[in-house]
Amino acid sequence: MNPNRILKEYFGYESFRKGQYELIEAIVRGQDVLGIMPTSGGKSLCYQIPALLMEGVTLVISPLISLMKDQVDALRESGISATYLNSTLTVQEQRTRLEEIRNGEYKLVYIAPERLNTVDFLNIVTDISIPFVAIDESHCISQWGHDFRPSYKEIPRFIRRLNQRPLLGAFTATATEEIITDIKEILKLDRPLEIITGFDRPNLYFGVEKGIDKKKYLLNYLKNHSDQSGIIYCATRKEVESLAKELRDKGFSVSMYHGGMGNEERKESQDAFLYDQSLIMIATNAFGMGIDKSNVRFVIHFNMPKNIEAYYQEAGRAGRDGENSECILLFSPQDVVKQKYLIEITDMQQEREQMVYKNLQTLVDYCHTHDCLRKRLLEYFGENTDWEQCGKCSNCLDHREKKNITLEAKKILSCVYRMKESFGVTMVANVLNGSKNKKVLELGFQNLSTYGIMDDYTTKDIQQIILFLVAEGYLAMTEGKYPVVKLTPQSVAVLKGKEEIFKREDINEIENQTERAVH
Ligand code: ADP
Ligand code: ZN
Repeated sequence: MNPNRILKEYFGYESFRKGQYELIEAIVRGQDVLGIMPTSGGKSLCYQIPALLMEGVTLVISPLISLMKDQVDALRESGISATYLNSTLTVQEQRTRLEEIRNGEYKLVYIAPERLNTVDFLNIVTDISIPFVAIDESHCISQWGHDFRPSYKEIPRFIRRLNQRPLLGAFTATATEEIITDIKEILKLDRPLEIITGFDRPNLYFGVEKGIDKKKYLLNYLKNHSDQSGIIYCATRKEVESLAKELRDKGFSVSMYHGGMGNEERKESQDAFLYDQSLIMIATNAFGMGIDKSNVRFVIHFNMPKNIEAYYQEAGRAGRDGENSECILLFSPQDVVKQKYLIEITDMQQEREQMVYKNLQTLVDYCHTHDCLRKRLLEYFGENTDWEQCGKCSNCLDHREKKNITLEAKKILSCVYRMKESFGVTMVANVLNGSKNKKVLELGFQNLSTYGIMDDYTTKDIQQIILFLVAEGYLAMTEGKYPVVKLTPQSVAVLKGKEEIFKREDINEIENQTERAVH
């Protein structure tokens, strides 16, 4: 049989999606592959179809224990012999399955990485032929990723122990360079066919809401979308619980999910959402990897996540069926503080910590830019677009008038320069505003020529402009707990009068109250 026939006969689909055929064809031909596709791009078929075309057993390594059963059930329903090995099985079940695998009863075996190097499993694999090993969610092998799993380090050791090196196929929805390099190196992929399908999800609207009352916004949104299914992501378990309670009290049909709940409770909650018994899922980022619910119409981030990668993956759970869906991030400066706190309390090497701060800042920039949000996201994943505006994000659809702020920008840039590029957003704003703040006076900044040259603005307004300038690259922010504002090559262009800057008026009563906490 050829891949096209299998696609139709076993899976009931008419045609391949982008990248699928090429990857399948390469595997069957005998080449390692690295498949990078966005969430719901259709990665599973890329290893399931080759498994059917090859002699022997294909192993699929997956971290998602809770989903193995679903995947295997679905395959069986399509008439494909598959099974899984993970910690949910009893010793007896485990034994039976291992025997069945040895007897060649399965084409596909899903296995959790922790199981690979167990004596029982190693005994079996030396007796059978394993032509192909697929590594799902392969970014979990990289420490740079947002989802590093130490058990993935078992994979290379396991591969080395096999009689014959199998073909390897690594699959992920993560496309950052560091992680891709890690995957290739750690798994020792042999001249793999690398396919990165476009990361754009044209049916998704992207929005950032700043300076709003989040609760009010959310309630209003839910009222206007009362017949739709959606996910609301919060930063902490506590927040999930309190928001869930509040929404339930208001009569919304809500499930919740976080790492502090028991297994049973989580499963029940997840199923209620998957089978449309409850419309809304309120969850921490513990929820969602591998979830295949097609009709999620919105993903709202009640709190900002830690980086763009995590954001895009979570937001990407909307609209798997290709229908129009919305991804909205509710920004508040408080969330930046929270994320920084989380970084502070996590023990990590300095190099990594810097990277984590940088990734956070990139997302903060996403929240403050006036550029097309989709363009920003795609550029982050290394994709160049031949358009400037997508027409389907909150920035492209924002038709408020833009004001020329070149003069303000020049004042700010010169002040940063005169303060020797050594202070944070608040100090710079205080100096420009002519604040009598003790620290300002102690440092003698009242003698700078830029002191008080923006006293017709509030400090908060100045801070807003500075954050905007950072987001647009006219200023840069160092990484770390106390970031310092610096000039960039673009600053020079502005100071020399070679570039003009336009900015929309922000509406931000709330933001103004909380912005202080950040800096
Ligand atoms: P990923 O693992 O990349 O997130 P999946 O493999 O779970 O994505 O696929 C997402 C959805 O798209 C699934 O419901 C799957 O059945 C469907 N799908 C995959 N390939 C095709 C195809 N060629 N035609 C139609 N639907 C497809
Ligand atoms: Zn846009």
